[in-house]
Amino acid sequence: MTTYTLLSAAKINLYLEIIGHRPDRFHEMAMVMQSVDLCDRITLTSLTMPTQRLHCNHPQVPTDSSNLVLKAANLLISKFPELANRGVDITIEKNIPVGAGLAGGSGNAAATLVGLNMLWELGLTQIELEELSAQLGSDIPFCIRGGTAIATGRGEVLDPIDSLSDLYVVLAKYESLSISTPWAYKTYRTNFSDRYADIANSATLQERQQRVHSGPMVTAITHKDAQAIGSHLHNDLERVVLPAHPKVQQLRDCMASHGNLGTMMSGSGPTVFTLATTQQSADEIIGKVQTDLPDPDLKLWSACCTATGIRLEAN
Ligand code: ATP
Repeated sequence: MTTYTLLSAAKINLYLEIIGHRPDRFHEMAMVMQSVDLCDRITLTSLTMPTQRLHCNHPQVPTDSSNLVLKAANLLISKFPELANRGVDITIEKNIPVGAGLAGGSGNAAATLVGLNMLWELGLTQIELEELSAQLGSDIPFCIRGGTAIATGRGEVLDPIDSLSDLYVVLAKYESLSISTPWAYKTYRTNFSDRYADIANSATLQERQQRVHSGPMVTAITHKDAQAIGSHLHNDLERVVLPAHPKVQQLRDCMASHGNLGTMMSGSGPTVFTLATTQQSADEIIGKVQTDLPDPDLKLWSACCTATGIRLEAN
């Protein structure tokens, strides 16, 4: 029996702009994604019978075929008929909060694809894995690649930029509150589709893409200028999530009052993050937020930006 253990990193969105609605029902996006070293641990062990077993220590994570990890395994099996007799036992140790806007499930699927590529000796390149993974979810190619990247299309078209490494984040989430990503996008579409570009019209789309505002963020990252990165954080989905969840707005205000670099919601939320230049200042912010908002349901973590999406752990 062979076993591989992989770490899948969470991601935050330093920038998220919604461009329009696509004919394939996804949204056209302009994002800057960043991996952070808050990781889940995925252990894959080969089985001699054609069975897939999944275990997870988190009660909110399904262990049936709806789990992205099993969807990833089944995607490989459907592409490679010779795998029909292979089996795998998968254990997910969840450390990334669930339904948090941190792409935890997408990262787990990314780790499964990378790990099964090794376990089943498929010989797929990283690019091939990324292309395949886009069939499962728009964030998964980024989760495989990791680091810092501009993500366009529905989020699966990646342009890497210089990776950030010495930047810390404080992440905060009410444990009992999760937000459905489809709900957030649907609500945005209902409220703001008058701002959408006509994606079917290439001239209009090009004109709209020229007005994407992520340029200053990318420049700030290139210059490793934490102050400028903080001042150019942006997330269109805050417009729908914050009014619907005043507690998240209050948390955001509290984080912003203690983190002096920049504060933003990640993805479709409800996780709020604030930037810090040292581990010590991240720890200080955590202490201050806990004092201001003493609620056992509020969980806080510190993490560091990392260049790695999926990491193989020595067994
Ligand atoms: P994203 O930022 O990609 O939208 P998220 O961080 O908001 O994702 P996830 O933690 O990935 O949300 O979970 C969203 C839902 O997906 C969960 O409520 C759960 O039912 C389902 N799910 C399927 N597979 C997994 C997995 N491996 N880990 C966590 N959730 C999973």
